[in-house]
Amino acid sequence: MLVCDVLTLWEWYACLWCADPVGVVEEAPKLKHRFRHYYFNRSRTCFLCKQKVLSQGSACQVCRYICHRQCENQVSVYL
Ligand SMILES: [Zn+2]
Ligand SMILES: [Zn+2]
Repeated sequence: MLVCDVLTLWEWYACLWCADPVGVVEEAPKLKHRFRHYYFNRSRTCFLCKQKVLSQGSACQVCRYICHRQCENQVSVYL
C-alpha cells in the first residue's frame, strides 16, 4: 500500500515537472481546420456537398477548404 502511494506521488511530481497531463500520450500535433466566413466574389464549389457556394461561404485558413456555412460543422475537425 505504501509503495503504491509513493508511486502515485512520484507520478504526480513527475507530471508537474514535465507539465504533461497524466495518461495522455503525446502525439504529433494534428492540423485543425480554421474556418472563417467569407463573401466570395465568384461562385465556388463546396468541397463537402459539391454544390455551388454563392457569395457567402466558409474557407479554411489552413488548407483553403471551401464549403457552405451550413456544411462547415459537418467537416471533420482535423485535416
Ligand atoms: Zn482546413
Ligand atoms: Zn456544402
